[in-house]
Amino acid sequence: NLSDKLQDVFKKLKGKGKLTEADIKEAMREVRIALLEADVNFQVVKDFVNKVREKSVGSEILESLTPGQHVIKIVRDELQALMGGIKSDIVLAKSPSTIMLVGLQGAGKTTMAAKLALKYKNRKPLLVAADIYRPAAIKQLEVLGQQLGAEVFKLGDKVSPVDICKAGLEHAKKNGFDLVIFDTAGRLHIDEQLMEELEGIKKSANPDEVLLVVDAMTGQDAVNVAKSFNERLDITGVILTKFDGDTRGGAALSIKAVTGKPIKLVGKGEKIEDLDVFHPDRMASRILGMGDVLSLIERAEEAVDVEKAKEWQKKLQTQQFTLDDFVEQLQQIKKMGPMDQILGMIPGMGGKMKGLSVDEKEFVKIEAIISSMTKKERITPSIINGSRRKRIAMGSGTKIQDVNRLLKQFEQMQKMMKQFSSMEKSMKKGKKPF
Ligand code: GDP
Ligand code: MG
Repeated sequence: NLSDKLQDVFKKLKGKGKLTEADIKEAMREVRIALLEADVNFQVVKDFVNKVREKSVGSEILESLTPGQHVIKIVRDELQALMGGIKSDIVLAKSPSTIMLVGLQGAGKTTMAAKLALKYKNRKPLLVAADIYRPAAIKQLEVLGQQLGAEVFKLGDKVSPVDICKAGLEHAKKNGFDLVIFDTAGRLHIDEQLMEELEGIKKSANPDEVLLVVDAMTGQDAVNVAKSFNERLDITGVILTKFDGDTRGGAALSIKAVTGKPIKLVGKGEKIEDLDVFHPDRMASRILGMGDVLSLIERAEEAVDVEKAKEWQKKLQTQQFTLDDFVEQLQQIKKMGPMDQILGMIPGMGGKMKGLSVDEKEFVKIEAIISSMTKKERITPSIINGSRRKRIAMGSGTKIQDVNRLLKQFEQMQKMMKQFSSMEKSMKKGKKPF
């Protein structure tokens, strides 16, 4: 994939003390191919490579960087700029605020409507079912609404979508809803009738945000769709969905450049919690294979008690982190979301930690094992030898292998936390990891 390809290019550059123009030319040729293969728009690639080449040849090299690192930094910065530079927030100015979701059929609008309702749960969101064409579209929204405890406004499929949205907005005003989300219909392809209908809704509801939902996996098509929708509807931003899947990244890199409209959010799964803010800087780092470290830290901060986290960090640094802390930490980590997703965000971790699972049953076992240990064992796991392992397994009703596995996991966790805290430190100092 794109990350691997770019990393290969940069590995060659990194080692070099001096870069000739030929080195840069060769590297840019490879970057160009990698981007095209990732389905980035042709013109975007051309402009991008030209810009990077100009800067690489022309600029002064920072003292702290090798020439190779310098080029990598330029590429990273330009990737970030390409995606809009800084993150674009959802702007909800009016009361009630309104968000209109548009896009082709299957892009993920209805799912996204629910995700947004969850994100803005405290604003008392109203979901408006304005897709009267797709069979069961209204039902789908109702099921999602029920799941998250948000009201769904519907008038069946005999009333026009424009009138449904109008009535929905009225309903919201009368009943104290502070956010209205319009889930509109899509088609398999862009067609005139759909565009007219969407224009009608936009005109009558005048939404704060008109967000185009596109499937990231469709690459160039997503970009073309964005262009067409923007020309007709003057959208306020784009949401990329299915970013969890096998996307080559082309859409993320091209949309801002082609439409002038920022990507605001990304959907990363089918569940209603799978929603992330789009950060161009983090995405750029991620594409360069540095992992989504900042996103991870942000998520950790949301889930983890900050005081606790500080305490752990201190303990880790002073080697006082115990199995008791481990249990507590597993509990907090569980709140962060699926483990494989989280580990995938840590550079170089995704693959290695596959064995670490924290499902409910496993968890009960872990607690049983740890509570069968003596205080001393919990504080200094290195003393847990064969006979102690046997005793602990007996005491907790588990197998020796379970005890072994847990101790192994604990060791890995310690390593991970160390990596974590040193990454965080270098980031705080504003140092880029390359
Ligand atoms: P709509 O036609 O635009 O309303 O699209 P839906 O919301 O009905 O979604 C179409 C399909 O895509 C459903 O099966 C969703 O579960 C799935 N889907 C939506 N968003 C995501 C996402 O971010 N990741 C993945 N993997 N699937 C998604
Ligand atoms: Mg739908």
